[in-house]
Amino acid sequence: MNGPTAQHVLVINAGSSSLKYQVVDATSGAALATGLIERIGEPNGLVSHAVGDAEHEREVAVPDHGAAMAAMSEAFAELGPDLAEANLVAVGHRVVQGGPDLTESVLITPEVETAIEDVSDLAPLHNPPNLAGIRAARETFADLPQVAVFDTAFHRTLPARAATYALDQEVATKHRIRRYGAHGTSHQYVARAAAHELGIAPEQANLIVLHLGNGASATAVANGRSVDTSMGLTPLEGLVMGTRTGDIDPAVVFHLARTAGMDIDEIDTIMNRRSGMLGLAGSNDMRDVVSAVEAGDERASLALEVYCYRLRKYIGAYTAVLGRVDAVVFTAGIGENSAPVRAGALAGLEGMGIRLDPAANEERGTVRISTPDSPVAVLVVPTNEEWEIARETVGVITA
Ligand code: ADP
Repeated sequence: MNGPTAQHVLVINAGSSSLKYQVVDATSGAALATGLIERIGEPNGLVSHAVGDAEHEREVAVPDHGAAMAAMSEAFAELGPDLAEANLVAVGHRVVQGGPDLTESVLITPEVETAIEDVSDLAPLHNPPNLAGIRAARETFADLPQVAVFDTAFHRTLPARAATYALDQEVATKHRIRRYGAHGTSHQYVARAAAHELGIAPEQANLIVLHLGNGASATAVANGRSVDTSMGLTPLEGLVMGTRTGDIDPAVVFHLARTAGMDIDEIDTIMNRRSGMLGLAGSNDMRDVVSAVEAGDERASLALEVYCYRLRKYIGAYTAVLGRVDAVVFTAGIGENSAPVRAGALAGLEGMGIRLDPAANEERGTVRISTPDSPVAVLVVPTNEEWEIARETVGVITA
C-alpha cells in the first residue's frame, strides 16, 4: 500500500458534534480511507467509514472526542486499511483560527495548544472542538507528530488596509479585532491548482477564488498571495451563505436588540444559522433552491438573485483590488456543481472581460468555462483541503 514516495498523513477536522478524518498520501493526494463521525455528545453517534468503493455505517455511543477517536481507530482496525501498515508519518489537524500570531502551519507543542486556546474567543464555535480533536489524537497516536494547519494562515499576507476595520483602534487592538478570513487552506490549494491549469507559475497568478460551500468566501489572490478576503473577524462576513447573512448593516443588531428586545445569542443564532439561503428560500441546499426556481417559486428566485448579485459585487470589487485578473475560479459544493449560480454570478460582466461559455459551464471536474477569447479565464477547480493539510503537515515535519 506504500508507493516509494507515499507519505501518509491522518488528517483530522474536529467540529463540535462531528469529526471528519482521512488518510491521505501527501505526495499524490490519494485518499486511502475517509470517514465521518457524527452526533458526538449524543447517545447514538454515527460512524461512516469508506475504503475504496466500500462504505460502512454503524451507530455507536460517542460521548466525546476521545470516544470519537476510539471509534475511528476501531473502524480502521475492523474495516481497514491497517494503520500500522499505512506507515503514517503524522497527524494533521485543521484549526479554524490562528489569531494574530499563529500564521503558519506548526508542530503542536503544549505552548501551541495554549496559543490556540488563547485565541478561542475569536472562534468560540470552532477552536475548542479543534483542540479537543488535537488532545484526543495526541492520546491515541502518541508516537506521531501532530501538526496544526490554520484556516486563517493563507490570509496572513493581507495588507493592513484590507485587514483593518475602521473601528475605534483602541477597542480593535485591545480585542484583536481585524479581518482574519477563513477557508484559507482551500483558497491556497485552489489558487495553486488554478495557476497550474492556466500554465502560469503560482507566484505570478492573479485570481479571484470563490469558495462556495455551505460557508462561502471570496479571496483576491495577487501573485499567489491572499490580498483580500470576504470573511472577516468571523465567517459571518461577506457572501450570502447557506445559513449566514454575509454582509449586513451592523446596525441591524442594535435594531433587533432595542426594538425587538432580542438578546445577543438570539441575534447570533438568527444571523449565523437561520439566514442566508435558508432564511431567504427555506433551504440551505442550493439544489433545492434551484429546483424551486425552476418550479416558479418567487421566493427562491429572489434568493438566488441576491446570492448571485453579492458574488458579482465581490468579483467587481476584487477586480479593482487586483487591477489585472488572470482567472475567476469557482470551487466547493456549489462552485463546483451549480452551473446556474456560476452563470448568475458572471451575468453582465462581459464589459470586464469575463465571457462565459454556456456549454462548458455544464461540464464537471477541473474545467475552463470561459470562451477561448475571454480576456479573463473562468475555471472550475474542485477543492481538496485534506490534501493541502497533508502537504502542509509533511512540510512542517520535514522542515
Ligand atoms: P461544506 O461547506 O459543508 O464543506 P460543501 O463544499 O460540500 O460544504 O458544499 C455543500 C453545499 O453544496 C450543499 O449545501 C449544496 O448547497 C451544494 N451542492 C452540492 N451539490 C450541488 C449541486 N449538484 N448543485 C448545486 N449545489 C450543490
